[in-house]
Amino acid sequence: MPPPLIIFVDGFPFSILSCVNGWKGFEVQQPLQTGLGYSINIKSEIFGGHRADDLGFFNEWQLRPHYAVQPPGGTLERASLLIERIYYLDRIVHRAYAMLRHQVCNIPFRFVGYFHEAGLSVFSPQFPHPTIMSRYPALKVFSLATYAGRVADGLRDRCVYEDAKRAVREGFPVLAAFEEFDGAGHSYGVGTPEYMDRVHEFVGWVDDLVKTFRSQNGDAGEIFLFSDHGMANVTEEAELDIERTFGRAAPDRYLYFLDATMARVWLFDPTLRESIASYLQSRNFGRLVDDETRQRYGIASRHGGDLLFLLNEGIGLCPTFFGRRTAKALHGYDPTLANQQGVFLYSGPRSEAARMVSAISVIHPLLDDALRHGGSQ
Ligand SMILES: [Zn+2]
Repeated sequence: MPPPLIIFVDGFPFSILSCVNGWKGFEVQQPLQTGLGYSINIKSEIFGGHRADDLGFFNEWQLRPHYAVQPPGGTLERASLLIERIYYLDRIVHRAYAMLRHQVCNIPFRFVGYFHEAGLSVFSPQFPHPTIMSRYPALKVFSLATYAGRVADGLRDRCVYEDAKRAVREGFPVLAAFEEFDGAGHSYGVGTPEYMDRVHEFVGWVDDLVKTFRSQNGDAGEIFLFSDHGMANVTEEAELDIERTFGRAAPDRYLYFLDATMARVWLFDPTLRESIASYLQSRNFGRLVDDETRQRYGIASRHGGDLLFLLNEGIGLCPTFFGRRTAKALHGYDPTLANQQGVFLYSGPRSEAARMVSAISVIHPLLDDALRHGGSQ
């Protein structure tokens, strides 16, 4: 069997597939239910079969296993509280800190010592777990990481297309990862004219890659195209101010991290568990994720917090530890919802098996098999 062509697109929703004319070359076109969380975890499951509990991270930022406790009411806390109150001062100080030390997004300074950015992209050369990229060194991989520091933002997906096309012509097994597409949804909103321009540009690239592959290999060989999640427009913002109700977060009481569509809370004072849980449960813009669901998605460990609060689709947390504005569209809600579904497209001799694909857990073994039989070792 000729080496496969694997196309990954970050954040392409199944809901937009019906707006697309093209991709006639794929016999299988169906929705894909992905994981609970963000791309950093979902991609690790797709390309390596690893879930958050195996990886040791859930989302980009994690509670440090060991940290120096800041004395409550100390100078750092007082200075941080003052900075937080003055918007422009807060922006300037965060920017200066990023230049002098490292990026801390919008994390309040009094919490900076308690969290670290441990989440690593599966495409990073430092990613420490086995993946299809590490197991099949002949696989030509084109992703954001390939062009980091060499090509400006916004132009990297085009480079992925051009270089992937060249590698397909040369007969290599190819993984073309279009990771900038996700940003179009966040910046413009799903279905807007700017977003649809990006969709049509991407569809044109895919049609050309498929044509190149088929003219090279005829009907033989497999082509996969899939995304890691869908996207929903944000219609409402919600604020989650836990400290207003429970007092200052501190490592002898509780700590929390605000992501775009979820909040993780770690409890150190056991007497707070019930009251914080029922406070979160009673918010009308989200719900606590139960233990059974966390087990099912492989996020039972403490990386997901002792309490994991998930927002309702279409609501953006604001502010978060990433910024004081929400995006036009977001993902990372309940993965069973229609707008959160990604896509799975397939062309090749295993259509029957490919039609059975409905969840990401089966993609990694399928890709592994395709690469093994596609002469990639
Ligand atoms: Zn995204």
